[in-house]
Amino acid sequence: MKKKELLNRTVKFKQEDFESHRELFKQISKAQSPHTLFVGCSDSRVVPNLITKALPGELFVVRNIANIIPPYRSDKDYFSTASAIEYAVLVLEVKNILVCGHSNCGGCNALYYPDEKLSKTPAVKKWLELALDVKKEVKNLGFDKDLAMREWITEQLNVVYQLKNLLTYPFVEERVRENRLNLIGWHYIIETGEVFNFNEETKTFELIK
Ligand SMILES: [Zn+2]
Repeated sequence: MKKKELLNRTVKFKQEDFESHRELFKQISKAQSPHTLFVGCSDSRVVPNLITKALPGELFVVRNIANIIPPYRSDKDYFSTASAIEYAVLVLEVKNILVCGHSNCGGCNALYYPDEKLSKTPAVKKWLELALDVKKEVKNLGFDKDLAMREWITEQLNVVYQLKNLLTYPFVEERVRENRLNLIGWHYIIETGEVFNFNEETKTFELIK
């Protein structure tokens, strides 16, 4: 796509989408009050507002490669994902945190790449270290023999690990314990539009229907 076309699309947005939601945009123009923090992969095929049918103002979104939540650290550094979680929970007081993994995830797949394949992208390589335990568990469970199965299980287990990492944030753990915050895990399937929801009791992902 050419730059000109991107610019043209903003005009179309203003003329069409904006006009059809003019009242909503006026209502939310001075403050936001989203109900959900959506943590998704940066993948272009995962479109948070489309999957959840959410309107502007409903979702606070953080996206990164493979929808990863780095474990809580209290030292000072430049934390992108952690600052979004902090702001969503402590300032916006969202009611849900939704971690959404997806099918054909390049980030999850890259966990299995040989080192040299990631040498051109050192930041990606470093970032994915956060999910190496997922890969280890997939191997331990014996799901690494069949590639399709490995992909599916890695993507789902990755979501479960990120939900666990969320609980390392003291302010998240406290609110979950007090039933003021829900943690939700999804596995979105690009080719079918299906979403599987993680059931905390059965520890399985169930098709939402
Ligand atoms: Zn992905």
